[in-house]
Parts: sequence; structure tokens; C-alpha cells
Amino acid sequence: FNSFIDVIENRTFDLRQNILINNKTKQANSDIVIVAVDDASYEYILDKYGEWPLARDVYAKLVDYIEAQKPQSIAFDLMFVKSMKSKTEADNALINAFKKYDNLFTAMNLDNQPWDLRTPPVLPEKLSVSLVNHSSKVNLDNQKYSNCRSILEGILNATSNVGMINVSRAEDGILRRMPLVVKYQDKYYPQLGLKVGLNYLQSKEGVGVESFEIDKHSNLNIGNRKIFLDSDGSAILNWYGPAATYEHIPMYKLIKVVNGESVDSSYNFKNKIVYFGTTASSLFDIKTVPVSRIYPGVEVQATYVNNLIDNNFIRKGDKAFTVLAGILLAVLTGVIVMKLASAFVAALASLSVYLVYVLSAYYSMKFFNLWIELVYPLMLAMIAFISALIVKYFIKSRDFEQQYKLATTDGLTELYNHRYFQEQMKRQIENSKRYNSEFSMIILDIDFFKKFNDTFGHQAGDAVLRQVAQTLKKNVRATDIVCRYGGEEMSIILPNTGKDVAYSTAEKICQRVSDKKFKLGNDRETSVTISLGVATYPHDGQSAAVIIEAADKRLYNAKSNGRNQVGK
Ligand code: GH3
Ligand code: MG
Ligand code: MG
Repeated sequence: FNSFIDVIENRTFDLRQNILINNKTKQANSDIVIVAVDDASYEYILDKYGEWPLARDVYAKLVDYIEAQKPQSIAFDLMFVKSMKSKTEADNALINAFKKYDNLFTAMNLDNQPWDLRTPPVLPEKLSVSLVNHSSKVNLDNQKYSNCRSILEGILNATSNVGMINVSRAEDGILRRMPLVVKYQDKYYPQLGLKVGLNYLQSKEGVGVESFEIDKHSNLNIGNRKIFLDSDGSAILNWYGPAATYEHIPMYKLIKVVNGESVDSSYNFKNKIVYFGTTASSLFDIKTVPVSRIYPGVEVQATYVNNLIDNNFIRKGDKAFTVLAGILLAVLTGVIVMKLASAFVAALASLSVYLVYVLSAYYSMKFFNLWIELVYPLMLAMIAFISALIVKYFIKSRDFEQQYKLATTDGLTELYNHRYFQEQMKRQIENSKRYNSEFSMIILDIDFFKKFNDTFGHQAGDAVLRQVAQTLKKNVRATDIVCRYGGEEMSIILPNTGKDVAYSTAEKICQRVSDKKFKLGNDRETSVTISLGVATYPHDGQSAAVIIEAADKRLYNAKSNGRNQVGK
């Protein structure tokens, strides 16, 4: 799950980088120029010299030509490997160039080839640096290699300006990071770009680094620059543009000038960092980077040096910040959804908040080279949005139930109220009409209740009303509907019940109430009686009013006949 999130997060990084380069936010440093073995140069070399790699004395001649113009440095993103056959004199010419110029750099690459294929060479001590890592987040063992391919021994003896050109590819194969130092046989070796960059900083800013230190905030300190290292020990590259960001000089043109075949005085190498590398498609040094699917390796190297000298490597936001941002967005979303009545408006408001977050992440990268994570916080916010909606609708439906209950029940007795009784009467008539069935209703009134109130007080009267209501509920079927008709009068609807059953039910209730001792508080007890009237649809009438009137009439009969009985 985490690596899935990482993949998407990396994609949002790529997107930000692409928008930034399209808006031409950053300028590449014009002190960097590239002498490119492009397709035309490759063809020219094969034509003229009949082989690739090129005989090494040609490079020596080019170096002499450029050095005459006092460049800052010359760096070969090319490996002069030992096993490539070349004439000894030609090799020696290049080795002598390395002896002569201390601003000449070249590359080596560490790998993990097995021992039986190639014995890992021991590299000269002078190529390594000392390094202390105080960060618990940076693990430099991720940049550890077990083997390498040695370059010409003469070069290794002549100079310490040999740097590594190892890159870190993400799981999706895209190159976003490059280590500053790599580990080999328990020693740390700086990358070529780091050496070239330090050489530039030394002469421009007087920055000298003898030993490296990664502080506890995961920064590699170089002078007053703090280069942020990701957990795998690599720096995150900030891109300046699509391919051909730097001035490219096709190598064959330079060879022609050096050989006296053409005169072109437009090349100015003074104070420049001159990178030699291949861009020819047939030489396969092509990488996939956030801003391009086909990006020459030498441009990656140049970008890396550029990031170092202009101090604009990407810094990644702290994990704690990401978590905090996620919580903040989630809480804000929760409040918005709860406070706003309409889900649509809440969605719009939440989206605007997310947009603000996305924009601030974009501008943080633009102005502060800061990579603020988007995926985790936004995912947390979305989860909060959905949960808040669910909670909200749950609360709403509970509110509705409560209101429905309030609207249909009587507060004192908790029986259904008069309005509900009238509605149910109509519904029962409709049902009975459709299914050609019958139903009954009972209306009842407590006897001498006025006197009861006068004797015991209204509080006691209320208590008795509640207890009579409970007695009624207990003595009818679950499908029967017991209501407070008004005052001390109650009514019961008995669906699918004929007049005989209704009458005997009424008698049973009358008996139960008169048998019961009602509690009045203070341990006092008393008994009350009720009078009842029963009516049945369709026997007693076709409408609710007529039926209720019939029941009322029988209740009156019960009263006048002595009370505590069901009226005839
Ligand atoms: P009878 O029905 O037997 O003819 O005599 P009665 O005294 O019950 O007569 P009537 O129906 O005229 O009086 C009803 C009395 O019920 C009036 C009022 O004091 C009492 N009553 C009505 N509603 C409530 C109530 O919510 N609480 C209390 N405590 N008394 C109520
Ligand atoms: Mg009454
Ligand atoms: Mg009464």
C-alpha cells in the first residue's frame, strides 16, 4: 500500500516539475556547456577514425584546446575503461593530460557484478572521502555496491578527480534522485557531479570540504548549503527544462577545429564547466526522467551539478508535516460537511480547500524547492469527507425519527396523540373497504376524574393517567393502536376485529382497570374505574366521524347506566 502511494506521489512530483519547466520558472546555469557525441559526431568519428570508442589521444587534443581558454573544469561523463583496447601512446596522451591539468575530471561506475565474472578492484585511497551520518532517516547502505569496472590505471595514478556516476531509479524506472556519495568496500566515494560542483564552489565561494557530514535533519552540509538527502541517501533533482537545457557543442565540430580542418572561433570555454558526454541514440546513454522519457545521461549529470552550484536540489517535507496536513485537511472537511446543509455545496467547499492545498504545494516547489506531499493528506481528507457524509445522514435520519415521534405521540402518556388517531381511523376505513374486512374502536373515559383531581391533586391525576395508559397497552394486541383521545379520554383501534371480540376486549380492559391498584407516590394507592363505548366498521357507519359518534354514544350510555362498564 505504501509503495502504491509512493508511486502516485512521485507522479504528482513529475506533474509539478513539468508545469514548472513549462512556465520556465528556473534558468539553467549558463556556466555549464556540453560537448556532445551526438548522432552527427558519432557518424563522423566512425568515418574518420573507423572505431568507437574514440582513440584517447583525440580527447587529449580537445582538452589541450579547451584548457588554453581557461575553463573552470572539464568533466568526462565517459569511462576510459581499462579493458577497452586502445593504442598505448593514445592512452598515455590522455593520462598526461590528467597529469597536466588539475581541473580535469572523469567517471567511474559502481555495480553489483558477481565475483566470478570480475574480481572487484581495490580503488586508490585518495578517491574516497570520510563521511559521518547523524541522520536516523538516511540509510547509506542503500547506496552500497559490491563491484566496479576499473578505468585506466594511469588515470587513477595521475589524478584524484575521478567520481562515480551512479543513479537511483524509482520502482517505476524514472530517475528522480542521485546519490552524492556511494559506498564501496566500506569506503565512501563522491559522485562525479559532487566533485565537479565542489571544484566550482571552491573557486567561486571559497567552499572547501575535507570530510562530509549528514546532520540529523538529513542534510549534507557543503559550506552554508544544506543538501537534503532522501531516505535512500540520494538528493532529489530539480529540473530546468526538457532535453537540451544546456549549450550543446557537437564534438565533431570541435575535432575539426582542433585538427585545423575548420576555423570556428565562436567557442568560448572561459570559466565554463565543460561536460563531455554522449547524446547519440545509438550509444544508449538515455534515461527516463520526470520531464522527459528520453533524456541524455550527460544532461542528467549537468542538471545535478547545476542543482549543486545553484543550491536548488529538492527538499522533501517532513513526514510529521505530511501527517499534520492530512489531519488538518480531514478536520476541516469534517467541519465543512457538518456545518453546510447541502452535500453539493459541502463538496464544492471541500474541493476549494483541497485546491488551496494543491496550489500551496505547487508554489512551495516553485519558490522554495520544497516537495510537499499531496497524496496522503488528500486521501485522508477524502476519507474524512465520505465518513462525515455518512455520519451526517445517520444523524439526520435519527432527527427525522425523533420528530416523527414527537409529532405522533402524547407527551404525558406516551400513547399516540389525537391527530395520529384520526389519521389511523381514515387509513383503517380505506383498508377495510379495499379488503372488505371490518375493524373496531373503543373509546373510554375515566370515571369521576374531576373529583379525583380535586381530592388527590393534579400530580396524582397525571400519575393515574399514565398508569391507565400502560394498563391499556398491556391488555391489547401488538397490532392494536392505543391513543389519548383528549383529557382523560382514550381510544383504541382494533384492526381486523369484529364487534363481539371488540366488546369482550372492552370488558376485559374495564375489569383490569378496576382491579388494579394505582400508585400515587408516598406509598398511597387507590383505584379508579373507566366507562367504555365500542363501535365497528362497517356495522356502525361508513365514516370515521359516524363511527366515533356511535362509540361516544355507547360511552354515554355506560356513564348513565352507573359507570365502570361497557356501554350498550
Ligand atoms: P365522568 O367522566 O365520570 O362523568 O366525570 P369526570 O369528572 O371525569 O367528568 P369530566 O369528563 O367532565 O371531567 C374530566 C376531568 O379530567 C377534568 C380535568 O380535571 C381532568 N383532566 C383532563 N385532562 C387531565 C390531565 O391531563 N391531567 C389531570 N390530572 N386531569 C385531567
Ligand atoms: Mg371526560
Ligand atoms: Mg371522566
